[in-house]
Amino acid sequence: MGTVPFECRYSVIEEKNPREIVLLRGRGCQWRRCRFCDYHLDFCKDPEENFRLNSRVLKQVSGLYGRLEVINSGSFCDLDEKTMQAILDLCREKEMTTLYFESHWMHREEIPSLKSRFQQEGITVKTKIGVETFDERFRESYLDKGMNGASPEEISHFFDQVCLLQGIPGQTADSMRKDIDTGLSLFERVCVNIMTKNTKPIEPDPEVIAQFRSQVEPIYRENPRVDILLSNTDFGVGV
Ligand code: SF4
Repeated sequence: MGTVPFECRYSVIEEKNPREIVLLRGRGCQWRRCRFCDYHLDFCKDPEENFRLNSRVLKQVSGLYGRLEVINSGSFCDLDEKTMQAILDLCREKEMTTLYFESHWMHREEIPSLKSRFQQEGITVKTKIGVETFDERFRESYLDKGMNGASPEEISHFFDQVCLLQGIPGQTADSMRKDIDTGLSLFERVCVNIMTKNTKPIEPDPEVIAQFRSQVEPIYRENPRVDILLSNTDFGVGV
């Protein structure tokens, strides 16, 4: 994946926790090491260029559900200040109640000030982290997530929602269910992303995906707190 086209940067999610979603562009993920991810290639070092693009994307937001999810192939703090201010102005103008941002673990200490900045305007910020799995050895030695020593409880202290990556070699129906159950016990919502092939070394495992479809998905399909993305574009943004 490289730079995402403009028309793939806005969508409306109608099922489960209805909300609008925008894929904005920042200066790029500061970690960039996850062995399954090439999203971070959607970046630009010029904050003015990013602001120009992000302003156009944000213009499409109508506020119809009062909730907006902002993703940017990295962390909220990779967005330029003018874009952050434009998000705040938009939320005020459209009377948004809830805003969702994503972040890597390394920026967790910046979350309280983000939340309080928006809370002053009556907007609740919820944060989402790609944990991928709570099996620490698998997560750190195989996926290289950069979250050494972070326990599920500690993660839940900073973040409201988790993303899990499933359908990759080494996982089983049991391990996938265990991860989702841990997520549901500690976080408000869980988003399961099924691995999609990209330019990075970790590939989807068809056997594991088949196990997910037959033994995991049926349990959580109707759960309003679980989003399941069988393809990375199921939210309607990205490529
Ligand atoms: S998964 Fe997230 S933290 Fe990891 S490299 Fe990709 S954008 Fe960065």
